[in-house]
Amino acid sequence: MRRITVFGATGSVGESTLDLLARRDDVAVVALTGGRQVARLAELARAHRAELAVTAHEECYRPLKEALAGTGIAVAAGPGAVVEAGYRPADWVMSAIVGAAGLAPGFAALSQGCIVALANKESLVTAGPLLLAEARAHGATLLPVDSEHSAVFQALVGEDIAAVETVTLTASGGGLRDWPLERLAQATVADAGAHPNWAMGQRITIDSASMFNKAMEVIEAREFFGLDPDQIRVLIHPQSLVHALVGFRDGAMMAHLGSPDMRHPIGYALNWPDRGALPVARLDLAAAGRLDFAAPDLRRYPALRLAGEVMRIGGAAGAVFNAAKEIALDHFIEGQIGFLDMAGVVEDTLADYMSRGSLGNAPKSLQEVLAIDAEARRRAAEVIRARGRAA
Ligand code: NDP
Ligand code: MG
Repeated sequence: MRRITVFGATGSVGESTLDLLARRDDVAVVALTGGRQVARLAELARAHRAELAVTAHEECYRPLKEALAGTGIAVAAGPGAVVEAGYRPADWVMSAIVGAAGLAPGFAALSQGCIVALANKESLVTAGPLLLAEARAHGATLLPVDSEHSAVFQALVGEDIAAVETVTLTASGGGLRDWPLERLAQATVADAGAHPNWAMGQRITIDSASMFNKAMEVIEAREFFGLDPDQIRVLIHPQSLVHALVGFRDGAMMAHLGSPDMRHPIGYALNWPDRGALPVARLDLAAAGRLDFAAPDLRRYPALRLAGEVMRIGGAAGAVFNAAKEIALDHFIEGQIGFLDMAGVVEDTLADYMSRGSLGNAPKSLQEVLAIDAEARRRAAEVIRARGRAA
């Protein structure tokens, strides 16, 4: 039996992971964690006979406890309890909490030397070098789950990373791809929250429309594969069938194609190093007919330009970038700032740090990353207030 824990079980990636686990009979579910969707968490814990169900919110303890009464499933609550779940012995752990909240649980899981399937890209953006060092120190294996990174990883099987010239991540362009530039400022949460190809959580869907998601993925690719920033490219590809391309020094390019279904990269990480059968739709390229590609317009997608800045600065820039982005996204979702203001807030927050000369030093521990994250959130909120006063 493989012992498996799923962080963020009630989310989009978590549910897809559990869908795959339900089809197997060689799996014992150790812990499932969730946030506010207590009833769903209880349902999943029952269905998968989990040993432990954890909600990240203290106030959700009682309803979760009641929902699981008489099942023998242990219950815990609070951010500390989520991290604790990562220390429960497991062979394979899915890290699919959204946001920087996924960082500490991922570190906990790595410390037991297991396989960690990483959907939480924020971990690599905020603490890439530390995360990889933690994995190495404990003999743990980190596998990419983000579809583009899984695609690159698969294209690199049997290849020498030194022979790689370029890595190209594709982007659908999100829900606002065909909007005229002048209208983007008016985009609402509903407009930005509708994705043409992928069914994902609300936050990442909005990040797809602003390309903050792709910006995070560029940084994620740099960290995960140890690439130079100028080796990483982004291509708009509206069909979302080619997930990434790897260019080699002999001029060859390996493309990874598949239907846009997260159960593919999740299943690849689950079956790795084997290639097991997966219940995903097969591509019919004749029916698809065409694959389109276009260079992204940086005026439309300032987030991509900011990702380049972040990689150039290094140090604490990734953690500040992510924290400011999360705060800006919160405010957009709450209707307090406009769609294009999100990039403005992130840019101003980075500039604020630059003017104080406090970005260059790389954090040396998880605690330092969390402290930078907390401080950057406060400063981003201050930037939003200042922009509001100036408007
Ligand atoms: P969702 O919003 O669908 O789910 C997030 C999960 O995290 C839920 O289980 C949620 O609980 C839980 N959660 C939310 N806040 C906290 C918190 N503060 N502490 C602990 N748990 C919390 O997100 P997705 O599944 O879309 O994305 C998860 C991660 O995977 C993100 O990092 C995303 O960037 C990445 N990813 C997602 C892809 C996708 O297709 N969805 C593709 C590639 C990467 P609850 O809902 O119960 O409140
Ligand atoms: Mg992706």
